[in-house]
Amino acid sequence: MKRSVTVVGAGPAGLTLANLIQQSDIDCVVLERASRAHVETRPRAGVLEHRSVTMLESLGLADRLLMEADRHGTCEFRVSGRAFQVSYSDLYGGREHFVYPQQEVVKDLIGGFLDRGGDIRFSVSDVELRDLTSSRPSVAFTSEDGTRETVESDFVAGSDGFHGVSRPSIPEGVLTEFTHHHGIEWLTILAEAPPSTKATIYALHDDGFAGHMLRSPSVSRFYLQVAVGTKASDWSDEQVWEALHKRFALHDSSWTLTEGKIIEKRVLDMRSHVVEPMSYGRLYLMGDAAHIITPVGAKGMNLAMNDAATFGRALIDFYTTGSETGLKTYSEDCLRRVWRAQEFSQWMVNMIHTDVSSPFFGRLAQARLEHLAESPAYRATFAENYVGP
Ligand code: FAD
Repeated sequence: MKRSVTVVGAGPAGLTLANLIQQSDIDCVVLERASRAHVETRPRAGVLEHRSVTMLESLGLADRLLMEADRHGTCEFRVSGRAFQVSYSDLYGGREHFVYPQQEVVKDLIGGFLDRGGDIRFSVSDVELRDLTSSRPSVAFTSEDGTRETVESDFVAGSDGFHGVSRPSIPEGVLTEFTHHHGIEWLTILAEAPPSTKATIYALHDDGFAGHMLRSPSVSRFYLQVAVGTKASDWSDEQVWEALHKRFALHDSSWTLTEGKIIEKRVLDMRSHVVEPMSYGRLYLMGDAAHIITPVGAKGMNLAMNDAATFGRALIDFYTTGSETGLKTYSEDCLRRVWRAQEFSQWMVNMIHTDVSSPFFGRLAQARLEHLAESPAYRATFAENYVGP
């Protein structure tokens, strides 16, 4: 099989790229390890920045999103039983967040690509990337029916997430890896509970952070900072609700938390990871394959889509004008945004967590939150970074 571009992985990055280049008549195939049903129902992130939405709109893929997504321009912080809100949209040109679950984004991107005749191979296995420094790299894979196939193309997009095969296909010594374990773990909870709030809540409590994120009218995501080394099974559902009630509690309010059936409970090791450069020969890494960011600040899916848009534009330029400029600057262009998001995410991590072993940092977090509550200049900087530049 011969194609212009082989896209490995059908997450937000790979699918955004596939749609973008398909609409410029660049031939591509998408290889995905999981089944279509799996990727279309896998709950992960849920917040799109306005830039990501504008891009989906330009591809004609935002109709359902614009109809169904909740728009958010305010978030709430709670500290020592008091709450304050930051209207980040008002502080940054009216730009809003769109709350729309990642699996719905994926569903729309798959639907759009297939409707225009796109080729996605789901449930493939043993994906192998070869000859990446040649002008015709190839990707071998076993298709769902067990046939071993090889696709040869001009470029390979490595958009197969952190645990994919693309990054490990790059020889040792080529990439510089930056890794940071934040020394914090979260219990992430998805519950069939209608939201108890109209705005995302970040609560700093002496027992640790608690977060309430919105997903849909009937499902909410919650986060609890837990001791490092905790297993999800260490926490019963009753303990989860008890801790959430306690950490969100307000001194002078009748606010209540609506409980529901817990449908997912996992421990998330809070870490950051970036590789430089984001390309090797004709392989271009995108999204989680190149960088992992903590969910604080809701940047992961947006960065993945930004990489895809940057690579897509570079490919379109290459195929229409022969210019390699965009391909050459791809890594640098993406990394600028990635590092800025990492810096903001780290700043927020420090603001909303308690280090139980070192209460000093808990007090610094309180001071930062008080600064945010009181200073318009501080809030404006937060807004610019939070809603996306
Ligand atoms: P992915 O979405 O990971 O897509 C990669 C695709 O490649 C997958 O479909 C995978 O099946 C496929 N694949 C993997 N290996 C192969 C292979 N060998 N061959 C072919 N295909 C392969 N961000 C937030 O902001 N908030 C959250 O609450 C949040 N929760 C998350 C929960 C989890 C479990 C994870 C993993 C991430 C979460 N994120 C969250 C981050 C966000 O979801 C990611 O940043 C985003 O999915 C990145 O998109 P991507 O396309 O780069 O990678």
